[in-house]
Amino acid sequence: MNEFAMIRRYFTRPARRARLGVGDDAAVLVPTPGTELLVSTDLLVAGRHFFADVDPAALGHKTLAVNLSDIAAMGGEPVWAVLGAALPTLDEAWIAAFCDGLFALAERTGVDIVGGDTTCGPLTLSVTIGGEVPAGQAIRRDGARPGDEIWVSGQLGLAAAALAHLSGEARLSAPLLAECRKRLEWPEPRIGLGMALRGIASAMLDISDGFAGDLGHILERSAVGATVDIDALPTDNRLERAIWRDAIAAGGDDYELCFTAPPAQAAAVRAAAARAGVDVTRVGVIDAAPGLRLLDAQQRPVHLKRNGFDHFA
Ligand code: ADP
Ligand code: MG
Repeated sequence: MNEFAMIRRYFTRPARRARLGVGDDAAVLVPTPGTELLVSTDLLVAGRHFFADVDPAALGHKTLAVNLSDIAAMGGEPVWAVLGAALPTLDEAWIAAFCDGLFALAERTGVDIVGGDTTCGPLTLSVTIGGEVPAGQAIRRDGARPGDEIWVSGQLGLAAAALAHLSGEARLSAPLLAECRKRLEWPEPRIGLGMALRGIASAMLDISDGFAGDLGHILERSAVGATVDIDALPTDNRLERAIWRDAIAAGGDDYELCFTAPPAQAAAVRAAAARAGVDVTRVGVIDAAPGLRLLDAQQRPVHLKRNGFDHFA
């Protein structure tokens, strides 16, 4: 099988929303009137973002999921994606499994894979995604105001705990490991919640590099500070907080949403979360004074070993 037969066989699927998808020099997309276009890209490198021997179906899922999460974090609806793939060999079983994970999520979320590029090389995957949001309604990082409450979706620290187990730094029980691995390898992008928070959240992002560091991006862009109750951060109750505090507050790969909203919107936040079928937890408050203050349940300051992930640190 050559490159072109492979693309025809595995990557060419009927486009649902695009006028023209895979197979031409470029895709033809039809913007929905009254919307603005959201564009984001993410690069996944074997050995850095994932283990080279990871389940290819999980990798296909995650490659798209991390991009969907960026559109969700803007309050957007994902519409199309293009896939760049460097593959060491044309291993058909691997490609078929990768496509199973990728297209299952694409179909479930209404996204057309409208094109891409394939080359031989060290395993690297890059997705560029496009989404739409009603004009003026994108939820940005720079809208947090003093007095706003800080919220987090889902649970934090599980993916980091799985990674700690898989790299031999910790041991989890079999059932807990299964749950944590699911979060690491099959993250669920919070698209419905992001869209439901339009007009409610004042600022939002997705937590990919750790809660504390990512919240720091909202604080910086909004020129505000925050006080957070670290023991209020949602996690699995089987992860002992004394041991896993850094993973919960600053571990990566959670792909949950962190957002702010005025206190008067608290009921609207809860209603939006209920509509989306996702738990949300209030974890702190935005202050005028710059900086992030992490406090434990006894109001004592907490210092983390590191705030978040930096590829060049
Ligand atoms: P070109 O030489 O113009 O870049 P290619 O031969 O690389 O075109 O690709 C042929 C078609 O297949 C294009 O429509 C391209 O978007 C699509 N394509 C190539 N690789 C992928 C991929 N990994 N996933 C989805 N579509 C792909
Ligand atoms: Mg090409």
